[in-house]
Amino acid sequence: MVIDLDKCTGCQACTIACKEENNVPHGSPEEQEWRREIFWTKVIAVTTGKYPRINTELIPMPCMHCDNPPCVTVCPAKATYRRDDGIVVQNFRRCIGCKYCMVACPYGVRSYNFQEQEEKEYYRHDPPPDRSVWGLWPFPTRTDGVVEKCTFCFHRIDRGIKEGKKIGVDIVPACVESCPANAMFFGDLDDAQSKVSQLLSARGFFRLREGLGTRPKVFYLSK
Ligand code: SF4
Ligand code: SF4
Repeated sequence: MVIDLDKCTGCQACTIACKEENNVPHGSPEEQEWRREIFWTKVIAVTTGKYPRINTELIPMPCMHCDNPPCVTVCPAKATYRRDDGIVVQNFRRCIGCKYCMVACPYGVRSYNFQEQEEKEYYRHDPPPDRSVWGLWPFPTRTDGVVEKCTFCFHRIDRGIKEGKKIGVDIVPACVESCPANAMFFGDLDDAQSKVSQLLSARGFFRLREGLGTRPKVFYLSK
């Protein structure tokens, strides 16, 4: 994924689209008081400088889908793993909620689900009754006590590939699709002709906390 920070206005449409797409709960008012909101992607504000020369950069933060993900290394239940295509996914049925991954992740993009079973109304959607279609829409109501994170909407990718669609052209995550400023791009970095590869070769980019050796797969363009 490539994010152009010069175009991002910080409107948070990506955050809302992600919540809607992946059925991410809002949390009850009591849980929000305890700061237990769940976000799979969010926009953070980083302020540098001193008054009167203050600069604030708005940075959309999905999971970085690290090539060397510390969250995967520490998970004792093998609940989080990196797929062959580079996407780091989460198996909610294996997660035991120990939160090792949250501690290991240097980007703070994982959330613990505090939702009680009886508070299901705080989810956006009920799961479809036909369990056989859950593979196409794998995010029904989740139980409490698991850790959640962005998956680059891998259900869209898997379904699109089966239908013969092209990644980055017909297949993009919900956040990318919703961005009104066209600041987010998604595609195949192994394909030199893809839009993301061309953007990275044409412009300067950086990755967050690159010195840690996590090799993030989210690239930021910025002046
Ligand atoms: Fe693995 Fe779940 Fe523990 Fe995270 S909370 S390390 S995903 S078992
Ligand atoms: Fe894991 Fe965090 Fe890297 Fe995502 S950003 S792959 S959750 S270490």
